[in-house]
Order: sequence, then C-alpha cells, then structure tokens
Amino acid sequence: MSNLASLVAATSATLARIAADFTPAVFASSLAAEDMALTDLILTAKLPISIFSLETGRLHPETLAVLDAIKAKYDYEVTLFRPQQEAVDAYVAQNGLNAFYNSIEMRKECCRIRKVEPLGRALAGKKAWITGQRRAQSSTRAELAVEEQDTAHNMSKFNPLADWSEADVWEYIRTNDVPYNALHDQGYPSIGCAPCTRAIEPGEDIRAGRWWWENPDSKECGLHMVDGKLIRIKAVAA
Ligand code: SF4
Repeated sequence: MSNLASLVAATSATLARIAADFTPAVFASSLAAEDMALTDLILTAKLPISIFSLETGRLHPETLAVLDAIKAKYDYEVTLFRPQQEAVDAYVAQNGLNAFYNSIEMRKECCRIRKVEPLGRALAGKKAWITGQRRAQSSTRAELAVEEQDTAHNMSKFNPLADWSEADVWEYIRTNDVPYNALHDQGYPSIGCAPCTRAIEPGEDIRAGRWWWENPDSKECGLHMVDGKLIRIKAVAA
C-alpha cells in the first residue's frame, strides 16, 4: 500500500468511527485544501457528518467560490455561520473596519466576533468536531493529535489529517479531482480572511502569510485557544 493509501485508510477509519460513536458530529471547513480532502472523504462515503464554514464577511471571492464548487461536484450545501451584525457594527464604529492591524488585542477581538462566537453556535449540542489541521502546518501545531479533548467546548475534537504532509494533501486532491481554492495556485498555501492573508515567497513557512505582521507564536484565530493561550488540548490515547 502506498503512503497516501495508508493515510487515506486510517483517515477514513477515523471518520467512520466519529460517525458511528460521536453523533452528532460536525466538520468545521475553512474551505482550504486540507478541508477539501476531508470534504471529499466525508461526502463520498456519505457519512452523517455535517459540514459548516464560518463566513466572516471578510473572505476572498475565491474562497466563497469553493462553496459553489462543492455544490456542483457533490450536490451538497455547506452550512454557513455568520457573525452577529450588531457586534460587527459596534466594533467597526468604535475601532474602524481594519483595526485588527493596530494590535494583537484588536485582532483577537475581531476574530472573536467574526469567528469564535459563530463557532460556539456551530458547535452547540454536538458531540465532536473535526478540523483539517495538520501537525506540519506551523510551530503552534507541532503537538497536534488526531484525537483531542476540547475542554473549552467540552467535546471531542478530531484532526484526522494530523499526520498528513502538504504533498499528501495535494496528491489526494489531484488523484481524486477534488475542487480547491484558486488562491492556492497564486502563492497562498494557507487562507483566512482577505485582509489578514497574503501570498508567501518560495521557502517561507506555509503560515507566514497569515497575520504576517504578528509574532509566529501568536498566530491562531482563537478557535483553538482559551483565555489567550493556545489550548493544545489533551491528546486522547489511541
Ligand atoms: S482573520 Fe482578520 S478579518 Fe478575519 S476575523 Fe480575524 S482579524 Fe478579523
């Protein structure tokens, strides 16, 4: 069995176990390449795992186009969770539309309003959630486990692609003709909100284009943090 075939077999087994033992489970898709590989695995196997995305209101048109590509290929509509408009309006009125460039606190407050609060609504009542995070993506993810206990949301969290490399993800996408975000072909290996993501140069860390004006160790959006600290949660023994 090739390396990719073994990874796919292990990931499919993890997803099937989540579907069997953790209903209702949800997959939080950022519509990036990793998430598209997981989307393909979940939808092709017709697993009862619903897929949602956080529509922050600041995404690139190319990212939003991925939603149409998923609909066209799989006849599936990703559920969108949006920020509360009053909170967005208050932040913009008080601080300005792009105040996240001013300080880490302002950036985290924007992420809290546009991502963390909607994520809480998306996860309410669920037994487990799934992400497309990989260990090799950054220094903040070096200890990522496939299965963790998310104490902040009081549920299990799965990162089925934790062991995958970037090359594995792209081999899977090409082999299975999976749609992907056009920005990946324009120097964006990691894609978030438009004003907080830039293309990277060859050889740069793959998350160097995310919140590029900040220290690398502070680069998480709060979806995996508690009280300003990274929650490298509690790995669950295999
Ligand atoms: S990534 Fe940028 S625009 Fe998006 S929620 Fe965070 S600070 Fe706001």
